[in-house]
Amino acid sequence: MSQQETQLSPEYLISLGQQFGTPLYVYHAETISQQYNKLTSAFRGTNTVFFYACKALTNVNILRHIYSIGANVDCSSINEVKLALHAGFPPQRVLYTSNGIGFDEIVEAQSLGVIINIDSLSNLEKFGQKFGHGYPVGIRLRPNIMAGGHLKMSTGHDKSKFGIPVDQIDRVLKLVDQYNLRIGDLHIHTGSEIKDVDVFVKGIEVLFDLIPKFKELQFIDLGGGFKVPYKEGDGETNIQELAQKVGEAFANHPNPGGRPLQVWFEPGKFLVSECGYFVTKVNVLKETNAANFVSVDSGFNHLIRPMFYDAYHRIENVSNTAATPKRYSVVGNICETDTFAWDRTINEVREGDYLVFYNAGAYGFEMSSNFNSRYKPAEVLVKAGSAHLIRRRDTFEDLLRNQIEL
Ligand code: PLP
Repeated sequence: MSQQETQLSPEYLISLGQQFGTPLYVYHAETISQQYNKLTSAFRGTNTVFFYACKALTNVNILRHIYSIGANVDCSSINEVKLALHAGFPPQRVLYTSNGIGFDEIVEAQSLGVIINIDSLSNLEKFGQKFGHGYPVGIRLRPNIMAGGHLKMSTGHDKSKFGIPVDQIDRVLKLVDQYNLRIGDLHIHTGSEIKDVDVFVKGIEVLFDLIPKFKELQFIDLGGGFKVPYKEGDGETNIQELAQKVGEAFANHPNPGGRPLQVWFEPGKFLVSECGYFVTKVNVLKETNAANFVSVDSGFNHLIRPMFYDAYHRIENVSNTAATPKRYSVVGNICETDTFAWDRTINEVREGDYLVFYNAGAYGFEMSSNFNSRYKPAEVLVKAGSAHLIRRRDTFEDLLRNQIEL
């Protein structure tokens, strides 16, 4: 396989399945770099920084690759913060955008020296009482904008739990004043799979009205949520257009608040979705009057997106690329309805064939579980033409590891 290729070939994916066993997550480092380059080249010459939303995929080798290409990192739990620091990110390049967490985690994040976004009045008040002006802090706001590819992925609308509603800004300002808080950034994240760049512009406009109220503001954080194509005909967020429109929005509001502000984004899926392949093997074919079922050696315990978000993942029979296509429903092997694809056209499938799920890098392994006491899959990173095992498959001992036998 040449290092220049951006897609891993079917033959190569089969060889990895044979070498490492299935089910198997495979990630291609160069695809991550390519996606990051799309962002940095579109925003070249602007004051913009990208924080990889590592909830999408936290394997420490992925984090190190992301660090090596120059991105910062955004975390959604204190353990993600610790993983990022373990991977080598310096604290000033680690952002912790919390939601609904206990104040003890915020204290711990502060002690680690990372950037913190707070999303409740309650924690903001506690932060003020403990740190006052002594440590900068960001505020996660809920802009009351509906956006995203699925209601479960929409986080900025007026019924969402995320962030402090913008209509409560007076209460925020009261706390800022009372505790002399040093507000470094204002943050919004409206959702995931947002193709329409005007959603980001709308978000900026909400913030433009607020910026002058925060005298020490240095950054505005527009969150993540760029769309990636999961199926043919699906578009990707046009990053060039986004850069142009963000530039225009600032040009129309020169120096809001009087200072030049740096813009942050927190892409997760955009960086790691396409790099990932989920390689499975066909256990059983079952012809019924309802459907031709293909049962693979996996289930929603390994890739939950189709069942959780009705997500579409392209599936290819890489063992039979020249065969005639037929209609199949691809299902898993666990004790619940776990349909990966309903009535999908796939090249004729035989038991033992390898089926590959594409765009499986983001929220794939990361949302996996041991449901049905099945092992979590192994993970492999392909980098500079070599394949490296970066997580071994679970073993029976892993299932018992934290159990206390009385
Ligand atoms: N930032 C925040 C605060 C998020 O909650 C999320 C996703 O849930 C992201 C960034 C990343 O979103 P995406 O992977 O769609 O880019």
